[in-house]
Amino acid sequence: MSAIIIDGKLIAKDLKESLRDEIKEKKLKPGLAVILVGDDPASHVYVSKKVTACEKVGIRSFEYRLDNDSTEKDVKDLINKLNGDPLIHGILLQLPLPPHLSDVQESLVQRISPDKDVDGLTTTNAGKLFLGIEGGFVPCTPQGTLLLIKLIEENLSGKNAVVIGRSNLFGKPMAQLLLKENCTVTTAHSRTQNLPELCKSADILIAAVGQPHMVKGDWVKDGAIVIDVGVNRLDDGSLVGDVNYDEAIEKAEAITPVPGGVGPMTIACLLKNTVESCKKTKV
Ligand code: NAP
Repeated sequence: MSAIIIDGKLIAKDLKESLRDEIKEKKLKPGLAVILVGDDPASHVYVSKKVTACEKVGIRSFEYRLDNDSTEKDVKDLINKLNGDPLIHGILLQLPLPPHLSDVQESLVQRISPDKDVDGLTTTNAGKLFLGIEGGFVPCTPQGTLLLIKLIEENLSGKNAVVIGRSNLFGKPMAQLLLKENCTVTTAHSRTQNLPELCKSADILIAAVGQPHMVKGDWVKDGAIVIDVGVNRLDDGSLVGDVNYDEAIEKAEAITPVPGGVGPMTIACLLKNTVESCKKTKV
């Protein structure tokens, strides 16, 4: 079987172009504030990518780079200020925070006004997703993942979906989105028994673990949609996912590559959430 390779880069490009057109047409002035604390090199790269993506579609980005030794109060004061700033429609606190703030990371995220929480991480937005209440912000990576899956299969009703990983950022919201699509959802994690057999039952198999090539080809059901969320850097500098791509592609109906699959959708959905937030302030 020759699998469809899901081109997340192209799909994200289309989404960003439609956002750019909408911003122009409706004369919107969306603004996204990005807070980066400390000097983690990977976080700096992510923030630069987000800022560049904003500029390309016409979203104003406001970057706040705080020193590595910033206190909880410094971050809290900045979030409070941005919560009240009418030019800002989205606030993104780049995670993880430096180790001395890790105990207060969750409480700082919860400081962000739910109306500007374009990452969908506050209890208000997570609660809306859980309860099926429309109008909240859905976290960007699971939102982008669902868009990719639905391009392959519009109607997911009754499908068996297995999500490996139960993080608040990805696994849990992903499971909720699939449940809303009437999938039968199993969330697997590090204590799950018989993971290969479980995966083999999945019409939709999603891996978000952070372990290179963990999902083998013989874990994949013939004709499954395989989504690889994992991003792992090998010693030689290359990036690989959680799925053994060369093996899985032989079994899957469709599969996302790493890089170029889910990753670009995350940023596109961040921009989408920011534009949605801006539109809400106009009505
Ligand atoms: P995380 O918070 O570290 O969660 C990892 C999950 O994997 C946990 O639920 C853990 O189970 C589970 N796990 C660990 N070892 C396992 C095993 N041997 N078998 C089954 N499950 C196992 O990570 P995350 O934030 O969700 O991210 C996961 C991966 O996705 C990372 O590689 C990350 O870089 C990537 N990611 C990519 C994007 C993107 O835009 N492309 C966005 C977000 C994340 P326990 O809960 O039991 O510990």
